[in-house]
Amino acid sequence: MFKINDNYLKLPGSYLFSTIGKKVNAYAAANPGRKIIRLGIGDVTLPLPPVVVEALHKAVDEMGDAVSFRGYAPDLGYDFLRNAIAEKDFAARGCGIAADEIFISDGAKSDSANIQEIFGPDNRIAVCDPVYPVYIDSNVMAGRCGDYDEKLQKWSNVIYMPCTAENGFVPELPKGRPDLIYLCFPNNPTGCAVTKEQLQRWVDYANTEGAVILFDAAYEAYISEKDIPHSVYECEGARTCAIELRSFSKNAGFTGLRLGYTVVPKELKAGGISLHALWARRHGTKYNGAPYIVQRAGEAVYTSCGQEQVRGMVEHYMKNADVIRNGLKDAGYEASGGINSPYIWMKVPGGMTSWDFFDFLLERANVVGTPGSGFGPSGEGYFRLTAFGTYENTVEAVDRIKGI
Ligand code: PLP
Repeated sequence: MFKINDNYLKLPGSYLFSTIGKKVNAYAAANPGRKIIRLGIGDVTLPLPPVVVEALHKAVDEMGDAVSFRGYAPDLGYDFLRNAIAEKDFAARGCGIAADEIFISDGAKSDSANIQEIFGPDNRIAVCDPVYPVYIDSNVMAGRCGDYDEKLQKWSNVIYMPCTAENGFVPELPKGRPDLIYLCFPNNPTGCAVTKEQLQRWVDYANTEGAVILFDAAYEAYISEKDIPHSVYECEGARTCAIELRSFSKNAGFTGLRLGYTVVPKELKAGGISLHALWARRHGTKYNGAPYIVQRAGEAVYTSCGQEQVRGMVEHYMKNADVIRNGLKDAGYEASGGINSPYIWMKVPGGMTSWDFFDFLLERANVVGTPGSGFGPSGEGYFRLTAFGTYENTVEAVDRIKGI
């Protein structure tokens, strides 16, 4: 008789965004004709930049011609893209990352979920609280998180690092001894960023303790302040303790196209075994490479024209972030984030839970956000709004919130 992986049974009922989707659909069905403005899920609304569209067309034509047709892509990625990334994302910022340390993938969600596979079952993970749910759920599936305590809303074998208003949403170094530390800066959901000095403390800690930092930099393009590192490799010693995950989703609008990459430096070793070799083995076995046309589209992002167009998209969303943050503050709410990230993290008004406020906002303003408690126990009492809507909808949503 076959047996299932019963770790799956431990997972909470459904993914946060499907719960939200169900609630919103039920409300929309019961209230036809109402215009619901969705500032909940972190999906982009602007179309692909013109250079990307042009590169896609060109690559499609190549694929339709026997001479230039390409079959399976190299499983770690085409050199043209890996070289562009090494030069523009790393060398340009003074980070020594070689092209062959970059693994091209279909996005940061799969990489951030899959990366735990190269670590043993007994590793203990540490996560920020609140946190992007994928880090925990993927480790639950691998049987690494222990049991879930409904009351505490915590897993017994996970180290939670609270990010609260008291610590400026920047976690303290963990009290327990984690082996794998998930960090995401600029942060989803709090919108907070860390300075280079703060991140250096984590790198030093990981090197001293023999831990690995899994650094998710999916929102790097939104950094506007000077002293905020765009990559963990801007910190000294990161090559021996950190893996970095990147995405083309939020800077270049690839949420529906799918492209990302992971950096595993060759010096990163456990007992002399290189994690780079393990991830290459995993990638080569389970993945046949991101599509050629999509990798060509990714390459176009690094042209000077592409960089300019991507900057324009980020500026567009950050204008929305200003509207939300300032609008909420004018209306008397406490709100942070939205300066180095497209997320605004607001405190819900007195006495309400995050889900109470979700319902309140949906019913009274027809605006959808994300309840902070969906990201972890320290998110209770908070609410996330995203700057990824259209400008007109964002202004209208903020006006409606002010109105209630
Ligand atoms: N990492 C974080 C922190 C995210 O918020 C998201 C998407 O919302 C992702 C990764 C997923 O990115 P991708 O679209 O590249 O899979």
